[in-house]
Amino acid sequence: MKKFDVIVVGAGTAGCMTAKTAAKAGLEVGLIDRKSREEIGEKICGNAIGRHHFDTLGLKHPSGNELQSRIAGVKIYSPDMETVFQIESEELYGFIVNRLLFGQRLLRLAVDAGATLLDSTQMTEPILKDNAVIGVSARDIKTETKTQLQSKVVVDASGFFAVLRKKLPPEIGVDTEVSYEDVEACYREIRQLKGHVTSPDFCEIYLDQDTAPGGYHWIFPEGETKTNVGVGVRMTKIFPKPKNQLYSKVLSKPLFKDSTVITGGAWYVPTRRPLDCMVGNGIVMVGDSACQVSPIHGGGMGPSMMGGMFAGEVIVEALQKGDVTREGLWQYNVRYMQSYGVKQAGLDIFRLFLLQGVSDEEINYGMKYHLITEEDILKTSMGENVRLNITDAARRALKGLGKLSILRRLKNTAKLMREIKALYKNYPNSPNDFEEWKKKTHKLITTANKLLARKK
Ligand SMILES: Cc1cc2nc3c(=O)[nH]c(=O)nc-3n(C[C@H](O)[C@H](O)[C@H](O)COP(=O)(O)OP(=O)(O)OC[C@H]3O[C@@H](n4cnc5c(N)ncnc54)[C@H](O)[C@@H]3O)c2cc1C
Repeated sequence: MKKFDVIVVGAGTAGCMTAKTAAKAGLEVGLIDRKSREEIGEKICGNAIGRHHFDTLGLKHPSGNELQSRIAGVKIYSPDMETVFQIESEELYGFIVNRLLFGQRLLRLAVDAGATLLDSTQMTEPILKDNAVIGVSARDIKTETKTQLQSKVVVDASGFFAVLRKKLPPEIGVDTEVSYEDVEACYREIRQLKGHVTSPDFCEIYLDQDTAPGGYHWIFPEGETKTNVGVGVRMTKIFPKPKNQLYSKVLSKPLFKDSTVITGGAWYVPTRRPLDCMVGNGIVMVGDSACQVSPIHGGGMGPSMMGGMFAGEVIVEALQKGDVTREGLWQYNVRYMQSYGVKQAGLDIFRLFLLQGVSDEEINYGMKYHLITEEDILKTSMGENVRLNITDAARRALKGLGKLSILRRLKNTAKLMREIKALYKNYPNSPNDFEEWKKKTHKLITTANKLLARKK
């Protein structure tokens, strides 16, 4: 049986950062992925990532073929297409990356730091002993041989399907399932246009709920003549297929006349707060497998790399102390929750408001009368509290429409966002106070679901 200090399952953005951080500190790291080495990094994605993530993580900005476009900001279109918010700022400055080449760079960083890559290797089962994860069973996809890999800590970085997390017994203390209502089903294509992209420096987001119920559709530039275009819909009991929505409602725009598909595919993204607890005895969850994604725009590359970095650091510390129990790994929860987790939790409340509290018509009016300004949207998306800008004109317009209740729901949203963020800032320092914290958090989410819902 091969032995490592750490086995990381999945060499995406989260797994590569975990492996790099742990290997750099001198640990023996096995990084396994079911993809072949050359395919690692390829992913159905919008490919947009803020510059600040690179700066925070000490990564070089993308350049050369890895850089598809530089982005100055976002354009948000109201459902009726009458109002466009063009939001441009230092905080939103970012890049559209070539996902494969970006992923290959991260993989190289992990391998150069000393991690051993086992590619074309699929994890099949966690190996458990005395209520702790002590390794994984895997199979070599090319040779069909089965193998067992042993380690002191195993990291689930396997993405949305969280293949390891889903096979953990309840005693490990991690939620194994995520509600589908907190997941967006997406379909995305990269298309070669006949002409040029309309906004080469902007990511375009369209809020029309008829096309993307519970989500949005996007058109991002990939250079001058290619676009990354997709639809994300919330996975409620009944939801339309995002591919059908793209073909019937988005590709009919004149921009796509005579365009051709370069590549396309469907995938999922969890859009909620992080898992309440992301560690157990001998096991850590990072990236999509821990729901480390912005609940508002679905951006997960940055937070998953941040999660990977924190996980790597805490694993190193835990091994130095010789304690890889849930308690020994707990600081990973604390570090993530008190940094990005706080933002995610606040934005989860805002998402519940948008999903259940606002109709297309209200968004049209809210944007037209600047109930929320471009600056407020920017600040909210960066994790600050919602601020209201209720002018007399807006109040009169809403009153005339019989829509004053949206103001009450917005006020409640702002209050609940403040409350949940306070909970996440005070995430318990040890597992002892966790159940109490979890109870309070779930109560707040239940309240949000009730208070923010629009009366039918
Ligand atoms: C349509 C769409 C658009 C998006 N747009 C953006 C965007 O514009 N910007 C942004 O920041 N984020 C975006 N996201 C989210 C982002 O792609 C993810 O949050 C991020 O890639 C998560 O990284 P990860 O490392 O956790 O998982 P992944 O990148 O999914 O990596 C998981 C890895 O695990 C491997 N694996 C899985 N199962 C096994 C197994 N059994 N054994 C071995 N290996 C296994 C996979 O092969 C894969 O390499 C988007 C997501 C979708 C679906």
